[in-house]
Amino acid sequence: ARLSRMDKAETTCGYCAVGCRFDLYGKDDEVLAARPADPEATPANDFSTCVKGKFGYDYVNSDERLDQPLVKEDGEFREATWGEALDRVAEGLSDIQDQYGPDTVSVLSSSKTTNEENFAIQKFARQVLGTKNIDNCTRLCHSSTVAALKQTVGYGAMTNRIEDIGNTDCYLITGANTTESHPVLATRIKQNARDGADLFVFDPRKIDLAEHADQYTRTEGGHDIAWINGMIRHIVENDLQDDEFIEERTRNFAAVEEKVQEFTPEKVEELTNVSPEELANAAETIAEADTCVFGWAMGISQHTYGTQTVLALADLALVTGHLGKPNAGLSPFRGQNNVQGGGGDMGPIPDNLPGYQELSDEGVLERFEEEWGVRPPDEPGLRVTEMFDEVDEGNLRGMYVVGENPAISEPDLTNARESLEELEFLAVQDIFMTETAEYADVVLPAAAITEKYGTVTNTERRVQMVRPVADPPGKAHADWEIVQKLAERLGFDWGYENPTGIMDEINELVPIYGGITHERLEERGEGLQWPCPDEDHPGTANLYTEGFNFEDGKARFVPADLGDPTELPNEEFPIALTSGRVLYHWHTGQLTRRDEGLMSHVGESYAEIHPETAGTIGVADGEYVEVESKRGSIVVKAKVTDRTAPGKVFIPMHFAKGAVNKLTQEELDPISRIPDYKMASVRVRSV
Ligand code: SF4
Repeated sequence: ARLSRMDKAETTCGYCAVGCRFDLYGKDDEVLAARPADPEATPANDFSTCVKGKFGYDYVNSDERLDQPLVKEDGEFREATWGEALDRVAEGLSDIQDQYGPDTVSVLSSSKTTNEENFAIQKFARQVLGTKNIDNCTRLCHSSTVAALKQTVGYGAMTNRIEDIGNTDCYLITGANTTESHPVLATRIKQNARDGADLFVFDPRKIDLAEHADQYTRTEGGHDIAWINGMIRHIVENDLQDDEFIEERTRNFAAVEEKVQEFTPEKVEELTNVSPEELANAAETIAEADTCVFGWAMGISQHTYGTQTVLALADLALVTGHLGKPNAGLSPFRGQNNVQGGGGDMGPIPDNLPGYQELSDEGVLERFEEEWGVRPPDEPGLRVTEMFDEVDEGNLRGMYVVGENPAISEPDLTNARESLEELEFLAVQDIFMTETAEYADVVLPAAAITEKYGTVTNTERRVQMVRPVADPPGKAHADWEIVQKLAERLGFDWGYENPTGIMDEINELVPIYGGITHERLEERGEGLQWPCPDEDHPGTANLYTEGFNFEDGKARFVPADLGDPTELPNEEFPIALTSGRVLYHWHTGQLTRRDEGLMSHVGESYAEIHPETAGTIGVADGEYVEVESKRGSIVVKAKVTDRTAPGKVFIPMHFAKGAVNKLTQEELDPISRIPDYKMASVRVRSV
């Protein structure tokens, strides 16, 4: 039995960024189930959990868990001691750097690990390896959101609390299949809508939330900026804007006022399928509501024009004054459980130091140098979506991947996998032999989130504890312990005795986490929301109540340009493909594909096809189809449903067999470098 530590722990869910809190129970050697914790300790979920958080723990006890370091010899893995495996990683990376320079290696960190671990991993990249190339999966989900919100309001994060999402008067939800991706948020939205809040859903798919909406508008997809700018135009034309808010709290309104003039109702309808009546109704209700929450996810962010679309949403929130107060705000629904903290706040990104501190800020660089004895690289490195091209060019030769699975998550997988193959050295640290680990020279076995201590930060900036309910299997260790041992081999003795030692350093170096200590979190089940600059600070529930995060305290209107979709249906590939998540699975499926209960609901990949389109193709529900883009093809089961519009297909992202990213395109947003996962052209035929 591996449950030698304890059989119950109050902890935070390891799946999505709602950050549900519960007591996790174990019996014998299994993690069995989750139950609501102390009500004081569950501000995000308020007793609710979804099926993944409640039951999805088969993976923890799976026989397939990595429990031993592995090294590759003559193309085959064999078991190794920790000493041999760590030596191989240290040598593999430093040999490349000695020969070709520090920036010829990169590090990928993971939002599945804790804040403390992400801080340690980016420190390993910047201090120990001295490479500027550090990134993680936030690049693939909300990097466009972060880029846009930093420009307009100051922080790249949700402005309000989850609690506000249950109490607002009005919602605009777009590009977010909330019921499946953030189930507990959807429960709050549906309850509040039943109690009278106005719910507007703009989405190309008739998702569950559409059934509960006051107005569901099936958008064409590809030109969301047009209908959002069209709403702003309608609001201004009818003098419904919040003049006082605009005057006192913002700058540059005139530029947006001018920009939106081109988005007439006729143009909006032509581009987006949104009728003038629907546009006017939503715009007027949102403008006249006392409070409104603007919620979005990857249907908005994962486009080549993702940053522009979020700019448009921010402009809409500013023009209506729904910011800087309770029950209102800009609410990007973040993905992974720790993508806010581990993905961004802790700095495993190539363009900011921890806490979004600028690489160009000499004072910040000096503080880090003083603490670390090494000056961090002061120019931006490669984003993960740029790394694989650089491998092809011979500019990137080695990678250390912690908890990421680019062999499933990258767009245009055939290309990405060829790049992984080309690397001179690859080390992968994970809990399973992932599709990416298969390409590695060394595989290091890590602990799962249920086996370690530390903190994670949910989508509302709330930092909460995770605690172990079991020991890691065999010789597996927590990520921070492994990376510390690697640092030691490369000449840096960090001396952390536990994650609290790392958090102490975070408190020193990251002002927005200055007062978020383990000691306080142990006392406060409900966690603390950043910014929390010192130990007397109560945390910040709603951002921007006193001013926006700029020197003058004013938000910036930034006009949003109408981006052009880079791949539209054509004669050869006449159907539009989009991808996304389903309730019973999670990201690249490494955890949920090993869960018997979850697999019994959705056991394989599929393509949602509208009945009309299915008729044209000549395929019936449950039959198999080949879906082909110019980059590759997959065979999946057809699911005939009117959730997806005629002429479009939807395929989930979680499966290795029938991996949708064999079809998706590599085109990137020019600002955030997020790929366009939501727009590809395919043909579909019955097989
Ligand atoms: Fe976990 Fe998200 Fe489900 Fe809550 S809603 S139980 S955080 S997966």
